[in-house]
Amino acid sequence: MVKTFGVIGGGQLARMMITPAQQLGFEIKVLAESEDSSAQLAASQVGDYTDLDTVRKFAETVDVITFDHEHVPIRILEALETEGFNVQPSSKALTFAQNKLLMRERLAELGLPMPRWKAVRSIQEISDFLAEVGGSAVLKTPTGGYDGKGVMFLTDASQATGWFEQFEVLLVEEKVEFVRELAQLSARSVSGEWLSWPVVQTVQKNGVCSEVLSPAPNADLEQAANIARAIAQGLSVTGVLAVEMFETADGRLLINELAMRPHNSGHFSIEGSITSQFEQHLRAVADLPLGAISPTKNFAVMLNLLGVDESNHFVEHFDKALTVSGAHVHTYGKSARKGRKMGHITALSDQSLAEAMDIALAAKQALHA
Ligand code: ADP
Repeated sequence: MVKTFGVIGGGQLARMMITPAQQLGFEIKVLAESEDSSAQLAASQVGDYTDLDTVRKFAETVDVITFDHEHVPIRILEALETEGFNVQPSSKALTFAQNKLLMRERLAELGLPMPRWKAVRSIQEISDFLAEVGGSAVLKTPTGGYDGKGVMFLTDASQATGWFEQFEVLLVEEKVEFVRELAQLSARSVSGEWLSWPVVQTVQKNGVCSEVLSPAPNADLEQAANIARAIAQGLSVTGVLAVEMFETADGRLLINELAMRPHNSGHFSIEGSITSQFEQHLRAVADLPLGAISPTKNFAVMLNLLGVDESNHFVEHFDKALTVSGAHVHTYGKSARKGRKMGHITALSDQSLAEAMDIALAAKQALHA
């Protein structure tokens, strides 16, 4: 039985796993990348997650290894698995979260809906693809991208000059004229129990998530859940799975990308769901029964607190923000930097998304002052 969780990566996702782990009575240890990580409270080791010996030393102190991010090299996870360590999600599943090209290939095999895409090896192939899809495309590096990095919108293949220097093969996709972006969060346990939350709407600014509305208004809940179930089962995902999707004007859902860990689109669940995504992730990777995912109130709004400069830690104006009744303010204890995810606010309402938004905005404005 799992008694001690080991989380690789000391970001805010690891930080938010600490409370539910303790509530359940488990020990949680974090392999952090720096002394001052967001999850330093539980950091039992500081070290380089790309170094096998460091990761092995950490693995020896825990019962199950799981993740705050998807950047641990697959060869390290495979080595741990060969040595008998319990890694959840497995290296095999994580490959598809790390590599967008392999993900597209696998989802195509499963017959799941996606933007038109192609693996390309030259500027000429990009040019041909642009002609095929009507002149607008999105070029992506297969690995290493996050928060909009490693993604470029293209109307002319010459814009890709230099992109093949680091990657022999790139992913190119049609530019989807979506009406909005959705995220479907679910969790699958090691023995295959699967549960999903209602699909949420995510709003991005400059490639970074800025707000989440739960549930997504007028969304096709069943279609979204079916896609997530097919992926969770088809890719043998364990733990929380977030499927980011585009909704088109005619109501189709097209898969953009996957995360196999708690996800920014699920932060609302800390207060907005009987079981939060963080607790659910721990239950799932420890192969415990999953928790109920019923909402605590009908509507939830989550606003990210993105860094504005090097001095605002979003705690300076707590005196005003914490008087906003119903606003749940979370800060991640990170050093302030423009654009960095510094915290978030969740507000709930039984009446409407608009009411939840008003509450969350009132607290956010106070913190920005
Ligand atoms: P990251 O790995 O950085 O999150 P994504 O693949 O999610 O990269 O792309 C970042 C953003 O770029 C998406 O949230 C979406 O707004 C936009 N985008 C990505 N792919 C497409 C596409 N095929 N068509 C239109 N917009 C896209």
